[in-house]
Amino acid sequence: MFPEIAPPSLGFMPSIHDPLVVAASFVIAVLASFVTLDLARRVRTSQRRIGLIWWLAGSLVMGTGIWAMHFLGMQAFRLPIALGYTGLMTLLSWVAAVGASAVALGVASLPRFRAGQLAVGALAMGGGICAMHYIGMQAMEMSIAIVWDWKLVALSVAVAVLASASALSLFHLLHRVNNTRRPLYQGVASVVMAIAICGMHYTGMAAASFPEGSVCLSDNALGGPGLTAVIIIATGMLLVSTLFTSILDARLQSTARLLTQSLQESNAKLQDANAELQQRAFADALTGLPNRLLFEDRLIHALLRLERANHHRVEERLGVLFVDLDGFKPINDSFGHAAGDAILIGAADRLRAEARESDTVARVGGDEFLMLLEDVNNTADCIAIANRVLAILSQPFEVAGKQVQIACSIGVVVHPDHGDRHKLVANADAAMYAAKRAGGNCYALFEPHMGSDASDQLELQNDLRQAIKRGQMSLHYQPKIDGKRGSINGVEALLRWNHPERGMVSPLEFIALAERFGIINQLGAWVIDEACRQMADWARSGMRMRVAINLSVHQLRESGLADRIGAALTFHGVDASQLLCEITESVAMEDTQATQRTLEGLANIGVFLSIDDFGTGYSSLNYLRQLPARQLKIDRSFVNDLEHQEDARAVVHAVVRLAHALGLRVVAEGVETSGQRDILLAMRCDELQGFLYARPMPPDTLLAWAQGDKPEGSADFAPSVIGSLGNL
Ligand code: C2E
Ligand code: MG
Ligand code: MG
Repeated sequence: MFPEIAPPSLGFMPSIHDPLVVAASFVIAVLASFVTLDLARRVRTSQRRIGLIWWLAGSLVMGTGIWAMHFLGMQAFRLPIALGYTGLMTLLSWVAAVGASAVALGVASLPRFRAGQLAVGALAMGGGICAMHYIGMQAMEMSIAIVWDWKLVALSVAVAVLASASALSLFHLLHRVNNTRRPLYQGVASVVMAIAICGMHYTGMAAASFPEGSVCLSDNALGGPGLTAVIIIATGMLLVSTLFTSILDARLQSTARLLTQSLQESNAKLQDANAELQQRAFADALTGLPNRLLFEDRLIHALLRLERANHHRVEERLGVLFVDLDGFKPINDSFGHAAGDAILIGAADRLRAEARESDTVARVGGDEFLMLLEDVNNTADCIAIANRVLAILSQPFEVAGKQVQIACSIGVVVHPDHGDRHKLVANADAAMYAAKRAGGNCYALFEPHMGSDASDQLELQNDLRQAIKRGQMSLHYQPKIDGKRGSINGVEALLRWNHPERGMVSPLEFIALAERFGIINQLGAWVIDEACRQMADWARSGMRMRVAINLSVHQLRESGLADRIGAALTFHGVDASQLLCEITESVAMEDTQATQRTLEGLANIGVFLSIDDFGTGYSSLNYLRQLPARQLKIDRSFVNDLEHQEDARAVVHAVVRLAHALGLRVVAEGVETSGQRDILLAMRCDELQGFLYARPMPPDTLLAWAQGDKPEGSADFAPSVIGSLGNL
């Protein structure tokens, strides 16, 4: 690269460098640097063994590359005499190059790189390169010793050390460059390194002068243009194939990395999903409290801990509090479910705040909560907590800007004092019912006689599931009498359960149970079909009767109710206008999408709606106007008070006028006396329903009654119009 010509005046031989071979040596130097930089990255792998293999291979390849550059530099060197290189020294110079490379790669692969390490690395590497060079020079056995210019020798050593330092620093800089720009930076770095290595070599060559008359004793050893070609081709192939291997390995590694990464990601997602599922399986979605499952699990563990503690004669106890909100249902019905939810969340927060760290608060039903109290000493401790819960839950809740007050009933069970450990929750439930029966807003300690209640409910619920199949269900019908004409305007179908042991069970008892245990939709479906069947049956007997059925909120929330009703009507060949659906005021006001869709669906198939128990909820007039309702039923409680309370009269009067203004017919339910009847008729109430006229009765009795047979016990009333549908 830098042809040096020794001045002949000093008695030295003139020397030249073959520019082509110099160029080749430079290309080999660039290639060797590029490959080395690439390999150095490989050495830094997390797997020690693989790192070691790359280090060995890298040292060999890099050393060979540097050595080849040097040897080609020597081959480019021409003196007027024939030159050759002894095999042993040439081999030694190669060993020095490989050694220097091993040091360089070792330093380059250190995870952290301090100035001291850089200095040691650069010295070792520079020293190695110099050793290679000068040993290589010794491979030329000259008859007269080479004359050295020591300044230039020192300069060549400095160049070697600096070149090594820059190579090592460059390598570390490369680490901070991103993947797309790395080849460019690596290319530039390789050229810099090649200039440095060549610079050292040719400075070293310039330092050597060969006296006139000197001959090379090893001129018949290694040398000649054939060797140059062999070295260029062999080293070139070695470097290129190593580079390919390195690139291939990088690809494989990055694919493996991507694969591992995506595996880790999907694994993380799987774990997230799993955690979410676990959370859902054990937590109540509304309040975030543990659910019954988690509560029972905690209870089992708490009991085990307690047994262990008591085994060591530590007298500890465990309490279970069953907390049920009083008056929640009416509030939920009146203010809507969003408000109900807000109260439940608020109650949950208060209970959580009242509980200690070691306690568990769970939501186990609509408005039912369980508290597991650990580390309590006696019953008094549990009662103290029950009293605190009573106090915090009776603080008003703020719902939609209004202050709402509720209370709660608490059943208290203390283990091991209060019976079987497997029945703790059932006994707490029974105690809670006792508190409810005592008027609510209080707690009750479990007593053995209370135990029957819970199992009673369970038994009744089991029986109820079988009731339809066993033919124990029937519908009774109570007439609605037209105020003006005194004729039957229709009947209300009321569900009856003829229990084999208990006799007739009131819907007030079993509808709530069916709603609580998810049997209501099954019962409701039976009612729809049975009412339609009955209408068809009566029609065949010559009586066209309008029938009202009661719908539970659970049925309205169920999708496909309108379709089910439509199908039953079609199946029995009954006109949709003959069927009326009674829904309680609070349910009608429920502004949820599911309910609204059902109400619209019912209106679409031509079924009329009646708003039941009007006056017990909080209706929005505007909303009432939008409902597809035809009828409004004034709640029994107002009718009951009509004769004695001015307030009740004022309310009923207002409701009648309001309903008429909205184009609705008014029905008064629970009319028991003629006094009530007179007042209602004076207020222009459209229809009357109650024991005064008739009690709910089986279909055959109703047919006979409607045809003029007055059943025993009913008031002095006989329907005047039979067989036609009145106004609606
Ligand atoms: P409701 O829809 O308000 O039905 C009227 C209730 O008042 C009936 O009680 C009826 O027997 C009673 N009643 C009628 N006239 C008088 C009277 O003059 N004085 C008094 N004190 N009571 C009278 P029942 O049959 O016990 O039904 C109670 C409630 O059970 C019904 O109230 C209704 O909400 C529900 N229910 C009845 N059958 C069904 C049904 O098939 N499905 C659903 N979801 N609920 C039903
Ligand atoms: Mg009703
Ligand atoms: Mg009613």
